[in-house]
Amino acid sequence: MKTLLLKNTEEDIKTAAELLKNGGVVGIPTETVYGLAADALNPEAVKKIFKAKGRPGDNPLIVHICDFSDIERLNLVTKIPDTAKKLADAFWPGPLTMIMKKSDVIPNEVSAGLDTVAIRFPSHKTAQAIIRESGTVLAAPSANISGSPSPTTAQHVAEDLTGRVDMIVDGGAVEIGVESTILDMTVEPPMILRPGAITADMMEPVV
Ligand code: AMP
Ligand code: MG
Repeated sequence: MKTLLLKNTEEDIKTAAELLKNGGVVGIPTETVYGLAADALNPEAVKKIFKAKGRPGDNPLIVHICDFSDIERLNLVTKIPDTAKKLADAFWPGPLTMIMKKSDVIPNEVSAGLDTVAIRFPSHKTAQAIIRESGTVLAAPSANISGSPSPTTAQHVAEDLTGRVDMIVDGGAVEIGVESTILDMTVEPPMILRPGAITADMMEPVV
């Protein structure tokens, strides 16, 4: 497979979005780490992520949206908890992932067979533009071979995934360099499953 290396110009973003619409896999910058993106609503596209990374199929993926309204518009979950709305108001776009009960729209490949789905609204402008332009939502784990360090530059992504993905969009070095905080919204009170840039101290006043 030939891997295109693109910049984050308007034209390159359109090219990336077009590939994603057609079921391709693309390395994209986000504010946490580089992600390996595919159309989250297309099971065949999602399978390519697992193949490129050598990721075990039982490890679920985070779905990236470009507006809070995507959740309802695309019917991604059965119910948005009130607390999730409050946390989204406070911390989205940003490095917070929230887990909710999934609808049938989310393929089992994304949720790894669970009845829940992890959702995040990234703050990175290029990530937002690619999602918006693709017209869908994107499953995107870190853009590395499973087990190797998460990539913070397009160069890191290229070292791991050249020949294994369709395209890499170079958006420069990421800001944060650590993964998003993962919060399970299906339990009361919400539970942190993975610590990250948004801490319990930051979220407590909101919930
Ligand atoms: P990453 O490889 O950084 O994209 O991390 C994705 C991680 O999010 C997975 O390894 C899980 O730990 C977590 N995750 C994603 N979806 C779910 C889910 N439905 N329930 C619980 N954890 C999830
Ligand atoms: Mg990872």
